Amino acid sequence: MGLVQEVLEIVKKRNPNEPEFLQAVTEVLESIEPAVQRNKKYRDGKILERLVEPERIIQFRVPWVDDKGRIQVNRGFRIQMNSAIGPYKGGLRFHPTVNASILKFLAFEQVFKNSLTTLPMGGGKGGADFDPKAKSDNEVMRFCQSFMTELFRHVGPHTDVPAGDIGVGRREIGYLFGQYKRLANEFTGVLTGKARNWGGSLMRPEATGYGAVYFAQEMLKTRNETIEGKICTVSGAGNAAQFTVEKLIECGAKVLTMSDSGGLIYDKNGITEEKLAWIQSVKNVRRGRIKEYVKKFKGAKYVEGRRPWNIKCDCAFPCATQNEITGEDARKLVENGCYLVSEAANMPTVPAGVDLFLERKILFGPGKAANAGGVAVSGLEMSQNSMRLPWPREEVDSRLRHIMSTIHKNAWGTAAEYGHPGNLVVGANIAGFVKVADAMLDQGVV
Ligand code: NDP
Repeated sequence: MGLVQEVLEIVKKRNPNEPEFLQAVTEVLESIEPAVQRNKKYRDGKILERLVEPERIIQFRVPWVDDKGRIQVNRGFRIQMNSAIGPYKGGLRFHPTVNASILKFLAFEQVFKNSLTTLPMGGGKGGADFDPKAKSDNEVMRFCQSFMTELFRHVGPHTDVPAGDIGVGRREIGYLFGQYKRLANEFTGVLTGKARNWGGSLMRPEATGYGAVYFAQEMLKTRNETIEGKICTVSGAGNAAQFTVEKLIECGAKVLTMSDSGGLIYDKNGITEEKLAWIQSVKNVRRGRIKEYVKKFKGAKYVEGRRPWNIKCDCAFPCATQNEITGEDARKLVENGCYLVSEAANMPTVPAGVDLFLERKILFGPGKAANAGGVAVSGLEMSQNSMRLPWPREEVDSRLRHIMSTIHKNAWGTAAEYGHPGNLVVGANIAGFVKVADAMLDQGVV
């Protein structure tokens, strides 16, 4: 048995019933095998064995009182995966499906993604099985305060700097920060995704979506094409999706779809700036459902429980959640002529789908590269907090563009160097891995 298979066996044994974690580890380890083969130092240093074991897992009870005076109990987590190149960094997810497997997969991916950004950030992820949907602002605040009452002792600007993810946006970051500040008695950059007027960075809300489009532009450049005029499908209607759509419209692409966990809207006339502004107010202010779109805009269709992958397009931007593109969806996309997939979500494509995209040589940007813009601008928020100096929007945007282009260049070059030209899965995984692995070797057995 080869080393990678041996390590995967250990991971399976140590982490039973954690399919998402195993899926992420398998994908990464199999693709970095050439780098491990080429470098005895990684084998001798037991780098793979160490990488798959989180440095620390924190799990805690989150008790809170709802508006009716009833006590509720949720489960909170923080996975501190790897701090070889910087403080742990990665989002918090509040969603009923949250469990150790999902957060460990996300934390594992985050290690490589953060390494690719060129910024000094280790990898972590956290969250709770709390559903902010249909909760009042006061309930969300009480939950966030209880969550932070435990988390605060494990995080800090030089230790671990969480941000948002599914179910954690500007409102939640505000409540979490307020409670941290009260407990720690200091105003510090312990969370990113803060509002602009109290330490947030301009462009952080936009960063994940804009970054996924910038990454798509870099992929298209390799074929001397631009995004202008392309027919695009987008899933999700949250942070990543909204700003992916905004940037696509700005670049002259036509966006046909968005979705939420209820279903899909399909607008054959294209989602315009005005329509997007309306979606943003429904989702961010009223916290309503995407299906309301078809009542407001004639000619659009709503399909309950569906995702957009059977709709003909040039480019697809999955922006909702993990494993949302099945093998069958991938086949439909390719059959219908889709030749670019830029993953704004984390691990949205199942392994069979990724294999198909690579085999058919479509332009495929894996999440850890294509959606790294979010954490990259979080890193820039940390820099601005340390300097106590906010940068103008143009400066952050130009740094974001530069980082996305560097990630593409690095992944593209690494893929070629290891004999897989054009395969950005191999390229991103190896490029992210080598930096972390070398840092781990430098720092000894810790
Ligand atoms: P949001 O909570 O803002 O939005 C998530 C969207 O996806 C919502 O429209 C939600 O629907 C939908 N969704 C969530 N779960 C499911 C599901 N199981 N099935 C169908 N639809 C679902 O989250 P983000 O936009 O922040 O995150 C989306 C993806 O992007 C995630 O994979 C996240 O990890 C990734 N990402 C986010 C970053 C960020 O900066 N925010 C950075 C990098 C990656 P509904 O409204 O019904 O809940």
